[in-house]
Amino acid sequence: MTVQIAKRMSLIQASATLAITAKAKELKAMGRDLISFGAGEPDFDTPLHIKEAAKQAIADGQTKYTAVGGSPAMKNAIIDKFQRENELSYLVNEVSAGTGAKQLLYNLFMSTLNPGDEVILPSPCWVSYPDQIKLAEAKPVKVYCTKQENYLLSPEKLKKAITPRTRMLIINSPSNPTGSLYNKEQLMALGEVLVSNPNITLVSDDIYEHMIYEDIKFYNIPMLFPKLRDRCFVINGVSKAYSMTGWRIGFCAGPSAIIAVMEKLQGQSTSNPSSISQAAAIAALSKGNKCIEEMRNAFRERRNLIYRMLSSIPKMETSMPQGAFYIFPNISKIYEVDRFQSILKKQRKDTPSISYSQVFCTHLLEHYDLAIIPGIAFSDDNAVRLSYALD
Ligand code: PLP
Repeated sequence: MTVQIAKRMSLIQASATLAITAKAKELKAMGRDLISFGAGEPDFDTPLHIKEAAKQAIADGQTKYTAVGGSPAMKNAIIDKFQRENELSYLVNEVSAGTGAKQLLYNLFMSTLNPGDEVILPSPCWVSYPDQIKLAEAKPVKVYCTKQENYLLSPEKLKKAITPRTRMLIINSPSNPTGSLYNKEQLMALGEVLVSNPNITLVSDDIYEHMIYEDIKFYNIPMLFPKLRDRCFVINGVSKAYSMTGWRIGFCAGPSAIIAVMEKLQGQSTSNPSSISQAAAIAALSKGNKCIEEMRNAFRERRNLIYRMLSSIPKMETSMPQGAFYIFPNISKIYEVDRFQSILKKQRKDTPSISYSQVFCTHLLEHYDLAIIPGIAFSDDNAVRLSYALD
């Protein structure tokens, strides 16, 4: 008898971004001179003062379990961050730390969604939202936003998508994969729709908060609508801002009753995030943001360069990203070219279900040593995502 695979696992797929990044690493290890635009992580090393804090934590014996949602010092550092950077005040029981923002999102969906509940996802959207929502037996409702709309959800589209089953809206600004950023007025308009729909919870995924390249102040809906506080969750972490993807620390702020349920789940799954990583994250959050400034300046230069270069490619339609470190050119006109059609035919002989953007990316990887991510991973098969978090 073979070991069975749980039915729920058929609901989800392996993360396409992690899969391509792994494939690119494998080809590099085999000696291929490959350029990977796949990674969703800064190429900079974690700043020295953060690494030193981790070393000190080890030397001091901070090597044991901590409280599930983070040590008191970790929670205080999170509270201070929200107060200082976002003018949002939280109590200790309104914040929680976990193993990356990804775990906090998972905890949140599992703790608040029931079978059949609908979650509105402005799309293109980050790969993990739909699959995590499906694991919670809820239904991702993708609302497509076009390149002409700068990939941003309008209040009209939001209103149209709301049904009696709608329980949640996710806003990710700046966005992975499009790099689009909601300004204050756009968030105000969405917030007004939420005010008149009291059954909808808002999740603001602010993980790219510090990666903004224009002179635009960062806002999220809880900053603008204090009266929505009881149904808003803010997700953030140190992965992107402080180049700490491998340390795995993310955090969440929201109503204490739900934070407690999320911690109950975490307590029965991973317990606390790594004690050493918490010490590093405390240093990151409390020792100033000069290190972020240096990275941001480098990313801004790279963004300008990659935008110029992609814009010069015929039939590729590129919008200027305002934040994060991704660019998301539309390649639907390339799909019409004879050469693409013959490559498509050839690849579909081996893999009948392969999508257009997967054909494009597979061809670039196999024949041109370039790793980029097919847009279908972000629910838009007409585009591809390139990360410019590489030198
Ligand atoms: N949210 C978005 C939009 C992301 O792009 C990512 C990482 O790629 C995450 C959350 C998760 O970040 P982490 O789990 O490293 O904190």
